[in-house]
Amino acid sequence: MKPTQEPRIDPSETFDVLVIGGGNAALCAAMTASEAGARVVLLEASPWEFRGGNSRHTRNLRYMHRSANGFLTGPYLEDEFFKDLLLVTKGNTNEDLARFTIRESAEVGDWMMAHGVRFQPSMRGTLHLSRTNAFFRGGGKALVNAYYATCERLGVKILYDAEVTDLDMSDGLFRSATVNHKGTVLQLRARCMIAASGGFQADLEWLKRSWGEAADNFIVRGSPYDKGVVLRVLREKGADTVGDPSQCHCVAIDARAPKYDGGIVTRLDCVPFGICVNKEAKRFYNEGEEFWPKRYAIWGRLVAQQQGQTAYSIIDAKSIDLFMPSVFPPIEAGSIKELAHKLGLDPDSLESTIQEYNAATTPGAFDSNALDGLATTGLEPIKSNWARPIDTAPFYGYPLRPGITFTYLSLKIDEQARMLMQDGKPSKNIFAAGELVSGNILGQGYMAGFGMTIGTVFGRIAGKESAKCLQKS
Ligand SMILES: Cc1cc2nc3c(=O)[nH]c(=O)nc-3n(C[C@H](O)[C@H](O)[C@H](O)COP(=O)(O)OP(=O)(O)OC[C@H]3O[C@@H](n4cnc5c(N)ncnc54)[C@H](O)[C@@H]3O)c2cc1C
Repeated sequence: MKPTQEPRIDPSETFDVLVIGGGNAALCAAMTASEAGARVVLLEASPWEFRGGNSRHTRNLRYMHRSANGFLTGPYLEDEFFKDLLLVTKGNTNEDLARFTIRESAEVGDWMMAHGVRFQPSMRGTLHLSRTNAFFRGGGKALVNAYYATCERLGVKILYDAEVTDLDMSDGLFRSATVNHKGTVLQLRARCMIAASGGFQADLEWLKRSWGEAADNFIVRGSPYDKGVVLRVLREKGADTVGDPSQCHCVAIDARAPKYDGGIVTRLDCVPFGICVNKEAKRFYNEGEEFWPKRYAIWGRLVAQQQGQTAYSIIDAKSIDLFMPSVFPPIEAGSIKELAHKLGLDPDSLESTIQEYNAATTPGAFDSNALDGLATTGLEPIKSNWARPIDTAPFYGYPLRPGITFTYLSLKIDEQARMLMQDGKPSKNIFAAGELVSGNILGQGYMAGFGMTIGTVFGRIAGKESAKCLQKS
C-alpha cells in the first residue's frame, strides 16, 4: 500500500549507507545492509506508482542449482552456466568475475524466498527455460513489492521522487548526494554509498552518440527513469568504466509499443517461425539460426540497421499458435498481396520474396521444440531451422522496431562490488550493483534471466560489504 507519509529526513543526519536506485539491485543491497545493522536510506527517482525500475517488468532469474525442485526441472551447474554465457557473449566476458557470479548465484533462490519472493514453475513456450530459470509468482512487480515491504519492515528510509543529480566525492571517497526530491534540493550525507541506478537507455541523446539519429526510432522497453545520471557523474569524478557504449540488450518488439515502459507484452517471439523483411520487403538475416532465447537479443540490433529502424515478421496460419501472443493483434490478410498493402510494403516485392523463400524450403519434419534442421537450400541469407513454406492463409504480419532493454557501459567493480577508480584502486566507500555493472560480465549478447542474477548477486554483496566498511571506518 502506498505510504500516507514519507519518512522524516533530517538533513543534518549522516546515514550509514545511501542506496541510489529503487530496482532489484538497490533493494537487495538495502535489505542486506540493513540486516547487517546499518541505517539505510534508499533514493528512488520515480514516484511510488512507478517504483522498481526495469525490475518490475521481469519474470524470471537464472541461478546455479544442483537438483530439480518445485519450480526448476533439473540441475544447472557452473560449467554449463558459464558455457551458455560464453556462447552469447562470444567470449567477451571477465571469466573470473563471471564464474564468481555464477557460484554466488547458488545462494540466491533460498535468500529471495526468505525475503518475500515466491516462485512458480515456468510456462511452457518459446523460451525453453524450465530447467535453468526460476519464474517469480506475480512477476517482477510482486518481487519488487515484496522487497519494498521487507525494506519497510527493516526500517530502511525510502524516498520516492528522489533523483540523485550530483555527488560530492573526491579521490574515490563519497561524502554526500545532491537529491532533487519533488522539486526540493536536499544534500544527504552517508558513510557509504551504493550505486544501483540502472543503465542509461532512457537517455536518447546519450544513445544517439553511439547510434546516431536511428536512436530516435528506438523504443525503451522499461523505465523512463534509467537515464544514467549517476553513471555519468561517477565517471566524471574518476570512476573507471568497462564496456562499449553501443552494446546493449536490444530486442525486436512490436512497433506499436509505447515509447517507454511497454514491458514484456510488446516482445514478439514469432520471428523463427516465418521470415523477416525490411521496408523493401527483402530478408536480411537467418531467422532460424537458433532457439529464440539465444537469438532474440540480437534482433533489436538487426532491425536497428534497417531503413527507418523498421522490419516486418511474416508468418502464416500454421505458425500463429506457436509463440506467446503479444498484446497487439497481428495484421491479418487472406493473401500476401493484401498483407503487403496493409503493412505498407510493395506487394510485388513481398510476393516475390516469399515465392523465392518457399521455393528454397525443403521437405522434412518440423519441430518447434528442437533445432529441427529444416533449412532452405540455395537461399541468401539461409534460414537454417523451422523453414516451412509460407503458403497457408490467413497470413499475418507484425511491424518490428528495436526495443532497448538496458545498456552495457558499466562501472568497473571487483568481487566485493567495490567501484574501481581510473587509477585501478577500489573506492573506499562506494559500491555498485545491477545493470550499472552488467558490462563487467556481459561484453555483448545476453541470456534470459541473467540481468536479475547480476543484480541479486552484487546487490547482496554491496549491502554486506558496505556494512563491513562501516566497521572499518
Ligand atoms: C521488459 C523487460 C523484461 C525483462 N525481463 C527480465 C527477466 O525476466 N529476467 C531478467 O533477469 N532480466 C530481465 N530484464 C532486465 C532486468 O530488468 C534488469 O537486468 C534488472 O531489473 C536490473 O535491475 P537494476 O536494479 O540494476 O535496475 P532497475 O530495476 O532498472 O532499477 C534502477 C532504478 O534506479 C532508479 N534511478 C535511476 N536513476 C536514478 C537517480 N539518478 N537517482 C535515483 N534513482 C535513480 C530508477 O528509477 C530505478 O528504480 C527485463 C527488462 C525489461 C525492460
